[in-house]
Amino acid sequence: MAAWIGLGANLGDAPAAVRAAIDALGALPLTTLSAASSLWTSAPVDAQGPDFVNAVARIETRLTAPDLLRELQALESGAGRERPYRNAPRTLDLDLLLYGAAHIDSPTLTVPHPRLWQRAFVLLPLHEIDPARVPEAALLAVAGQRIARRP
Ligand code: ATP
Ligand code: CA
Ligand code: CA
Repeated sequence: MAAWIGLGANLGDAPAAVRAAIDALGALPLTTLSAASSLWTSAPVDAQGPDFVNAVARIETRLTAPDLLRELQALESGAGRERPYRNAPRTLDLDLLLYGAAHIDSPTLTVPHPRLWQRAFVLLPLHEIDPARVPEAALLAVAGQRIARRP
């Protein structure tokens, strides 16, 4: 199954954390990395603290979606993620954006990620690796959000 992961960090060495997480996704059990975007820098949306470093990765995995979410949370913990309050700055955030064409609505997992289409920091990196998944109208809808591809 193809799955798309949104990565974000805005504490500590955020670019290094995102790069390491992309590598770690490819090393998950039953999983290979099939594409990774550039690193992008974005202003916090509904969140505090310094600018974010963001990326989107595509993996090919035989993990179920709940098992994949558990693996993502283990990687976040390993990177020192704490959750002192909602939308707090974070060393690493890994969101399951899409899992094939699946629609999942459980207490702990909603797929597609419910805020996917509101977020330039998800749509631009996703468009970079899979343009067919992001209609131009979706990009236009988030055109006011500050985001840039890192040099
Ligand atoms: P947002 O979801 O708006 O990006 P966030 O990433 O800061 O916010 P977290 O604190 O990382 O939120 O996650 C809160 C909970 O969201 C997790 O405990 C997890 O169970 C749940 N969750 C639901 N759907 C997803 C998903 N598609 N990917 C990751 N977590 C999800
Ligand atoms: Ca998130
Ligand atoms: Ca998250």
